[in-house]
Amino acid sequence: MNREQRRAAEKQAKKDGSGEVQEKVALFGKLGDECLACSKPFDKKNKEMVMSWQVIVHEKEEKVNLYCPDCWNKAQEVIHSFIEHIESKDGGEE
Ligand SMILES: [Zn+2]
Repeated sequence: MNREQRRAAEKQAKKDGSGEVQEKVALFGKLGDECLACSKPFDKKNKEMVMSWQVIVHEKEEKVNLYCPDCWNKAQEVIHSFIEHIESKDGGEE
């Protein structure tokens, strides 16, 4: 790769990077205003809420799922017990 090519590649990488951020910002604009599970209102301008709520981005569908911490914790518990259930089912080696 010569210097010219490298510079072009770097420029392209920079361009791609900023494009990604723009995409994220665009997706942020698609944020709902309530929890998907319990319909608790979500305030995008509340930084604490933005930090604590779970945002699941489905880039392909350009969809953003939003869950409040309560529902997220519940979901984690369900997932956790589900995994435990699976492990206890096919484990038993120890
Ligand atoms: Zn909720």
